[in-house]
Amino acid sequence: MGAAAAYALAERGAQTHLFEQFDLHHAKGSSHGASRLFRTAYFEHPDYVPLLKRAAARWRALEAAQGKTLFHRTGLVEAGPPDSALISGALKASDQYGLALNRLTAGQARARLPWFAWPDDYEIVIEEDAGMIRADRALAALIDGARANGAVIAGGVRVLGWTPVPDGIELATEAGARTFDRLVLTPGAWAASVLGEPGGLVRPLRKHLFWAATDDKTFTLESGFSPFAIERGDGRFFYGFPVVDGDGLKIGEHTGGAALSTPEEDAPADKVRAGLEQFLRETAPGLPQTITKEQACLYAMSPDGHFLIDAHPADARVVFAAGFSGHGFKFAPVIGEALADLALTGETLREFDFLKLARLGAVFD
Ligand SMILES: Cc1cc2nc3c(=O)[nH]c(=O)nc-3n(C[C@H](O)[C@H](O)[C@H](O)COP(=O)(O)OP(=O)(O)OC[C@H]3O[C@@H](n4cnc5c(N)ncnc54)[C@H](O)[C@@H]3O)c2cc1C
Repeated sequence: MGAAAAYALAERGAQTHLFEQFDLHHAKGSSHGASRLFRTAYFEHPDYVPLLKRAAARWRALEAAQGKTLFHRTGLVEAGPPDSALISGALKASDQYGLALNRLTAGQARARLPWFAWPDDYEIVIEEDAGMIRADRALAALIDGARANGAVIAGGVRVLGWTPVPDGIELATEAGARTFDRLVLTPGAWAASVLGEPGGLVRPLRKHLFWAATDDKTFTLESGFSPFAIERGDGRFFYGFPVVDGDGLKIGEHTGGAALSTPEEDAPADKVRAGLEQFLRETAPGLPQTITKEQACLYAMSPDGHFLIDAHPADARVVFAAGFSGHGFKFAPVIGEALADLALTGETLREFDFLKLARLGAVFD
């Protein structure tokens, strides 16, 4: 989100400085790794759909500007009981916005997707236009784009604090203090230590990802294996990605995770791993079964699972985006634009209104 904001600000001619506490491509936050899903029939809430349509156009523009492939149109398999949040929400968004969702019969699903043990009561849909963002390349493209427009990007520099002063916002960093006209904060799971009071709304959640090794080319991106998202009757939500760069089939659980008091805290992966192994055995017996790699990641959970994008209650010259709750990456270019709008003009598109703090009814001093 910070890289996307720096890109949007620098593109508009603002003198932009980005400070990141770790290496720019670190794996301690929420944005690392090779892949993230992009989908538009958005089960979380239909109001995200207009933002996703803009984001799709922005990702394509970034690809064109840099001559890089950042998005693979792989399609996305979504499945679960008809009343599951995933299926009912995706169908609602697709109905409301006329989005194409290919609904499969059980027979069609067993033929097209034989690796899964589809329960008879499942609804199985395919969003053919959905796909996979190459996350590592996308982050690099946003950073390169910001730099190409004159932004100063400083990795390894921690922000220690900020103070509104009459002529701007005084920013204290490990590299010294300086006053800026505007401050954009995108602290991820570190919201509590960076945002002050509103940051207290965001809880870090430890997540784990796993890879199951396979030499079977069937499961590769190149062979057209589609990512999948499955919400089971017990409410547990699992997802998977095709093999990329020979790295095994990536699988994870969207539900669950260990609540942390600080983002640096660790949490054991063994129970999560056992849950994934059970999912593979019971629901996806045809997929590779042997987990050979794991990696930790962080969700920054807002109280209702929706993003928080707004001016800071302490000073409107400070704007922030936080609480992406495990589903923000796909929106990055338009989040960057909204933050640039808010910082430079004090307002942004009405489509972002549902993501403002006011919805939570929280009162800040
Ligand atoms: C396992 C997993 C799977 C996901 N799958 C998807 C998916 O399929 N599709 C999707 O759209 N989204 C997905 N997401 C969510 C998505 O990746 C995140 O919403 C997004 O990356 C959040 O970006 P961010 O910039 O807010 O957070 P981060 O990338 O964590 O950035 C916050 C940055 O702030 C820095 N920072 C914090 N405090 C300071 C300080 N004091 N000084 C300087 N720097 C500081 C941190 O070091 C960090 O780099 C997934 C997330 C995870 C963890």
